[in-house]
Amino acid sequence: MEWADFNLRQDFISGHQPSANSERSFHIVISDDELLSIDNGEPWRPLDQDEWRWLGLTAVAEHCLGEVGGIPVFATEVEPGSDEPEGYSFRTLWSFLGRTEQSAFYLLGRARQIVEWHNNHQFCGQCGQPTHSTDFDRSRQCAPCKQMFYPRLSPSIIVLVTRGEELLLARNANARGDFYSTLAGFIEPGESIEEAVHREVFEEVGIRIKNLKYFNSQSWPFPNSLMLGFHAEYDSGEFVLQESEIADAQWFHHTNLPSKPAMVSISGWLINDYVERLQGKV
Ligand SMILES: [Zn+2]
Repeated sequence: MEWADFNLRQDFISGHQPSANSERSFHIVISDDELLSIDNGEPWRPLDQDEWRWLGLTAVAEHCLGEVGGIPVFATEVEPGSDEPEGYSFRTLWSFLGRTEQSAFYLLGRARQIVEWHNNHQFCGQCGQPTHSTDFDRSRQCAPCKQMFYPRLSPSIIVLVTRGEELLLARNANARGDFYSTLAGFIEPGESIEEAVHREVFEEVGIRIKNLKYFNSQSWPFPNSLMLGFHAEYDSGEFVLQESEIADAQWFHHTNLPSKPAMVSISGWLINDYVERLQGKV
């Protein structure tokens, strides 16, 4: 079977090393944080073992991500600044968002995050000695002080606050363009997810909320967030904007929404879900 014959969502099994020897393999080639794409106008796919061999690039590190139909899938890192072989391009992860099938995008995000983690944990943060990869899980360990280093995820909350037929959307002070989005922020040490939602909303726009409802989550590999999405209802208070973060925040009627996030992000999903329920489509 070829890559396109697999259903990635069902057939991909995560793992840090191949379960058996296989003559076949798939390679997601990464250089300088960018991912190799075949210039043939078809949906993105990794290289197979022969394409990788004929590419003429040298791997500096290789990480098994798991298997598809028993065929191991590797994040294969090549030298930074490697030339693009004819017929191929290195592209940023961002350029794949919304332009490739969702499960393929998340696999690309996984590959890039594993390579980044590996490169950022070559040395122990505690004693400064070189680390080594362990073979029992995906981790790096420092031999002298036994510190373990795992791929890092940064959990964040993202919340759509509503007031009847109105949605609270804000324009970020640091974002380009004039689109409005839901509120979001990182969870702090010592906080529950729910506490983070209440705190972020109060910090950013000065209001109190109630009736939090978990919606769903999204891996957001820019660089390593896990977005946990909520709907919440307005409770009390007037807008007091955190100027360093929020340029503007308003209540928008669902029939008169501003320019808003695309449906490739959980922010777009949260807004769409609420509007569809208001309009009786769900
Ligand atoms: Zn150490």
